[in-house]
Amino acid sequence: MAKSPRVIVAGGGPVGLYTAHALAKANIDYVLLEQQPEIVRYKGAGIVLLPQTARLCDQLGILKQMQEPATRLHSKTNSLYNGQQLVDFRLFEPMEEDHGYPTLGLSRSEMIEILYKTLPERETRVKTNARVIEIESNANGVRVYLADGSVEEGSLVIGVDGAHSRTRDIMDRLIRESTEGVANREPYPMVTYFKAIFGRAPVPKGVDIGRFYEAHGNGVASQTVPGKKYAYFSILRKLPTPTTARHRYSEKELEEEVKSFADLHLFPNITFGEIWKTVKRDEVSLVHLEEGIIDKWHHGRIVLLGDSVHKMTPISGMGVNTGMQSAAVLVNQLQNMISSGSEFTTEALNEAFESYQKIQEPVCRMTVMQGEMMTRMVTWNTWTAWLFDRFIVPWMDLEGQVKKQFSPIISNTFVLDYVPFEGKAGQVPWVNGPKVKV
Ligand SMILES: Cc1cc2nc3c(=O)[nH]c(=O)nc-3n(C[C@H](O)[C@H](O)[C@H](O)COP(=O)(O)OP(=O)(O)OC[C@H]3O[C@@H](n4cnc5c(N)ncnc54)[C@H](O)[C@@H]3O)c2cc1C
Repeated sequence: MAKSPRVIVAGGGPVGLYTAHALAKANIDYVLLEQQPEIVRYKGAGIVLLPQTARLCDQLGILKQMQEPATRLHSKTNSLYNGQQLVDFRLFEPMEEDHGYPTLGLSRSEMIEILYKTLPERETRVKTNARVIEIESNANGVRVYLADGSVEEGSLVIGVDGAHSRTRDIMDRLIRESTEGVANREPYPMVTYFKAIFGRAPVPKGVDIGRFYEAHGNGVASQTVPGKKYAYFSILRKLPTPTTARHRYSEKELEEEVKSFADLHLFPNITFGEIWKTVKRDEVSLVHLEEGIIDKWHHGRIVLLGDSVHKMTPISGMGVNTGMQSAAVLVNQLQNMISSGSEFTTEALNEAFESYQKIQEPVCRMTVMQGEMMTRMVTWNTWTAWLFDRFIVPWMDLEGQVKKQFSPIISNTFVLDYVPFEGKAGQVPWVNGPKVKV
């Protein structure tokens, strides 16, 4: 087993890569294992990085690189399936005024590429074609078995391997086998209520770049963000019955889903049918959208992070933003152990993991709950949701609501405690900053 602390990060998605940056900044030895042959893959989805995530990128010194392909978002338009506009308001600009950082819209692959290309020693630290299949954990460390027969040794495993986390499955089994008894959840804890088409298209003429367009309807909703080169879209539909089963949609199912949305107005004056004519087939997917949050985030020398812990639909746009916050909090705990001279014993790690879960669980639970509520409101899950969304929301002071609801959440987010950095601030001061001075 490894003698000096060594972290094994399972999963090279956006949260795994940010974790790698945080470990590198803390001078903690690590390896990142990604099952796919390439880190940078194209999946067509857009992503929105909120001010707290722009701040994390600024602390790493990579905000400029993120801003390069990204579009600064400013406002939002809600409309109906038939294009009738419901409301139009400044959503992201007030956040920027409050916190000093913009909200950035870019593609998930652009974000991953920047996180990967700016990672120090990436050639030796990141291993692709490295699928974790088994983990052995004992008092001295962990052994991680890969599908190609190789083994990685370390002090702990961070399972940041997504909604279908293999690390989570292994951890659950180890819990069941241990004295802690049966894990208090189903083998597959995330539930799917919605599916979504997502992809990108060239930006159509006449749309407002940087505006977030959202269409609401009965059991359906769409989100479209026109950026510098592409408009990224996702279209959600409620499933007839919720399921915990995994499902891979066929080409035929995608085709039928696409056809059924021909009349849906992604923009007030442009339908999905018109947009679809400009979409490349390999730049669009149909997927299940799992939702949920797990109770037990760690066991022994294994700890979970990102979508393996909490999964939301894209409606609230919080998956990556929340995962990166959790990563900063977790690596802060590990760095604190090192700086206070603590060994990576199972007991000390347990304490660090406990405080990570204690700090992040309340905010993650609230975020998941808000995501569920927002998703059900924009898809008119009940007649009261329809009434509220259709007739009350348009009359509300939405800009004021944004300030009231989001500012306290954003201003209470974290950065890496051990990386000196001034950063930017707006009208609402950041509550937490680095614990070391510039
Ligand atoms: C259409 C769409 C739009 C979205 N928009 C937003 C948004 O605007 N803002 C936002 O914050 N979030 C958004 N999200 C959510 C966001 O994409 C996820 O929350 C985020 O990708 C989670 O990051 P992650 O690193 O935890 O997991 P993932 O991105 O799922 O990455 C997990 C990685 O682990 C690898 N892996 C899996 N199993 C293994 C194994 N056994 N061994 C090794 N590697 C393994 C996978 O190949 C993958 O690379 C959106 C999601 C969708 C579908």
